[in-house]
Amino acid sequence: MNDNSPHKGMVYLIGAGPGDPGLITVRGRECIGLADVVVYDYLANDGLLAHAKPHAELIYAGKIGGAHNQEQWQINDLLVAKALAGKTVARLKGGDPFIFGRGGEECEALQSAGIPYEIVPGVTAAVGAAAYAGIPLTHRDVTTSVAFVTGHEHPDKDASDIDWERLSLGSGTIVFYMGVKNLPVITKSLMAHGRPPETPVALVRWGTRPEQEVLTGTLADIADAARTAGFRPPAVTIVGEVVRLRERLRWFDNRPLCGTGLLVTRAADQAGEFADMLAATGARVFECPTISIVPPESYAELDAGIDGLPSVAWVVLTSYNAVQSFFGRLHDRGLDSRALGHAKVCAVGPRTAAALAPFGIRPDLVPADYKAEGVVAAFRELNVAGQTVLFPRADRARELIPTELAAMGATVVAPVAYRNVLPDALPAGALAALEEGRIHCATFTSSSTVKNLAAMLGENRFLKLMEGVTIASIGPVTSATCRELGLEVHIEPAKYTLADLTDAIVGHFSR
Ligand code: SAH
Repeated sequence: MNDNSPHKGMVYLIGAGPGDPGLITVRGRECIGLADVVVYDYLANDGLLAHAKPHAELIYAGKIGGAHNQEQWQINDLLVAKALAGKTVARLKGGDPFIFGRGGEECEALQSAGIPYEIVPGVTAAVGAAAYAGIPLTHRDVTTSVAFVTGHEHPDKDASDIDWERLSLGSGTIVFYMGVKNLPVITKSLMAHGRPPETPVALVRWGTRPEQEVLTGTLADIADAARTAGFRPPAVTIVGEVVRLRERLRWFDNRPLCGTGLLVTRAADQAGEFADMLAATGARVFECPTISIVPPESYAELDAGIDGLPSVAWVVLTSYNAVQSFFGRLHDRGLDSRALGHAKVCAVGPRTAAALAPFGIRPDLVPADYKAEGVVAAFRELNVAGQTVLFPRADRARELIPTELAAMGATVVAPVAYRNVLPDALPAGALAALEEGRIHCATFTSSSTVKNLAAMLGENRFLKLMEGVTIASIGPVTSATCRELGLEVHIEPAKYTLADLTDAIVGHFSR
């Protein structure tokens, strides 16, 4: 033990869960956030890395030492070396670290080196995949036991370490990890040792992820079925009568948009909510931000608008970004909502209204029609002649609201509060999915999302990649932009909200 080192580090051995990033434990997520170094595996969902500190070092365990297949000792050495250098290390492993995760070996190395560690258990693949396939691993009426077994043994190993006879007859449900390649040997061995050939079997690939695939059959036919279907790892093989319950209990992979690939083109900082709504329908969501929200080139206009607030009658905010940038600037200038004084607030759309809530503002006016035309119509009902209207907005925004309000006799101050710019590049995952035809539906939630995607891809490539893709647009203005760029619009909700767009997409694909 090297107890002389004044800054000895610490290693958290964390189970990342089976794939769905929501299935990590609260403690696991906390520990990722504590780490200076995160060493993660192929099977750990890399979305979890978002919980790491901004400058944490992220190391993919599959790449240590430069070779393709890492030797376990190299990983052990890395953990020890980082900890001895005084780092806090999160070792993020798929499922549970102590279930076929070689967590035991890593722990032994840490223990020998005198490095303190904590083990954070995780939802192991068998448990996660079974749950998301609708297969209870035990059931009072069906089976009283379950075994987790490695299917990775080499088939021509002289004497198998697995006691097939006891396993076949002794355990109710059997879950094999790493068993896809050996499926013929596994099923034959079970049958040879007394399990009936008609015993149901389910293979669950990428369990708990949107791309989960399930293949069911019997001990007699599943190996052939898997070969015919080209079924590939990673998957668990669940053997036992409980598999029959899936037919009734299935809930995850029969949701309305299961298997549908969706492209979400909203700005990076606001895509999350929409992506979550879509993911809840079972869709495979590819986030592809086409807009970066950045500050205006100069704050002079907006600051002048803020300084003039005491004489402003109405503040009109037409988007989430307008709210964030306007109140963000107030805050940066040491002000808060009270700077609005007696000014009334108009919010366009429920999302914009909701964005105001954290600032303690309840809008006085939320036009029923969420388009600029709706705002104009609502103001026509009020008398704004002679009043000052502050309208913080994006650069290159439509002129309709300022022009029409001015025509009603209002003084309109419309400073640029933020700019929409093109992001540097499309995310590799989304681009690959587009090129490989795995995107079935592209969603556009504003004209800029369409224009920018076309600009980022180049118009010809854009049209080519959109061939055969269902186009979902949030409303008529966005749809018009789609058509101008040569797209046919297939889905447009009656109300222009993300929830209505989600419903319309579900409706379209359920038909
Ligand atoms: N420690 C991990 C297991 C690692 S062994 C755990 O507790 O889950 C690797 C094997 O786990 C794979 O070959 C596969 O059999 C299984 N596995 C891991 N993630 C899986 C998933 N999402 N769906 C199905 N099987 C998975």
